Amino acid sequence: MIVRGRLVLDDAIVPGRLHIEDGVIAAVDTDVAEIGGPLVTPGFVDVHVHGWGGHDAMGTRADLDGMARALLRRGVTSFLPTAVTAGLGTLRDFADRVRAWMPEAPVDGAEPLGFSLEGPFISPDRKGAQNPDFIVTPASVDRVELAPLLAGLRTTTIAPELDGALDLIAWLAESDVAVALGHSVATVEQGRAGYSAGARSTTHVFNAMTGVDHRTPGLAVAALTEDDAYVELVADGHHVHPALWPIIVRTKPADRLVLVSDAMYLAGTGDGDGSLGGLAVEVRGDRATLAGTQTLAGSVTALDLEVRNLFLAGLPLPAAVAAATRNPLALIGVTDRGRLAVGQRADLVELDNDLRVVRVARDGAWRIPG
Ligand SMILES: [Zn+2]
Repeated sequence: MIVRGRLVLDDAIVPGRLHIEDGVIAAVDTDVAEIGGPLVTPGFVDVHVHGWGGHDAMGTRADLDGMARALLRRGVTSFLPTAVTAGLGTLRDFADRVRAWMPEAPVDGAEPLGFSLEGPFISPDRKGAQNPDFIVTPASVDRVELAPLLAGLRTTTIAPELDGALDLIAWLAESDVAVALGHSVATVEQGRAGYSAGARSTTHVFNAMTGVDHRTPGLAVAALTEDDAYVELVADGHHVHPALWPIIVRTKPADRLVLVSDAMYLAGTGDGDGSLGGLAVEVRGDRATLAGTQTLAGSVTALDLEVRNLFLAGLPLPAAVAAATRNPLALIGVTDRGRLAVGQRADLVELDNDLRVVRVARDGAWRIPG
């Protein structure tokens, strides 16, 4: 298979051709003759997504199928089904279900790379749309109860100021879990202690955390000033006002910005009412909120829209694409995909000039043929 167009490489957009053999990029040829072709990027990777297209990640195996297929249509070729805060038994069932499903996940859907847990070790004071009934402190839970969650767990959210949090972060980091700090009232010092203990990332920076106050700097300041720390950004224009985006992209090294959708299961289904982790939620237009409140309950966005938003806000396209591809993959230690380079898996997205998804390839075959 040969894919032609304007190739979004690591640091530049270059007209040319990708030669695909056995699902892998075998050669990258530059050729000015392809300058009129579509934009071609690596497949997008969503490491924080609770559902899509009416399918909840915490639902049945059919829901996982449906979610994976809905995401692929938006150019997402790899993802982590993400649980919200729930009882440990519910989370163990979720983990078992995802693990059993992964080998049989549909090839015409985004590929699961494991799973993510948003909580339950978070602050009740910054719970956002997480159900407070299931929030616990790290000190109150025995490691024996957590051990069954570890296989396949790629990322999880912890508030570093909680009793026992630093020990838990270190324990998870030893198991190669990328801990993200968030849903937290940490001071800047407590945030730094969390990263020092082994946390690698930050759950939707600025949302559900202490922020940038010049006298009482919070977790967002630690996240933005610790160069090694990744930050998730929900760039839908609602979670973080676009006026703050330059503060994030100028502060963080370019390889530490991770776009996530934080989408909830009603994403892609229009206006409607539903429930999330036992809480009533409503979708109106492009916002999801706890019913009757202004509290955001995840998003109804997808990574293609967020890449477009960052590009329109002035970020170079290769940097915006990196934030939706190789950066989240680097966070979770996956290196076989995410770049248009020889030897990489041919997970590809073809975009039109408005950055809308036209075709999507996974493993070197067009699964969404356009
Ligand atoms: Zn979330």
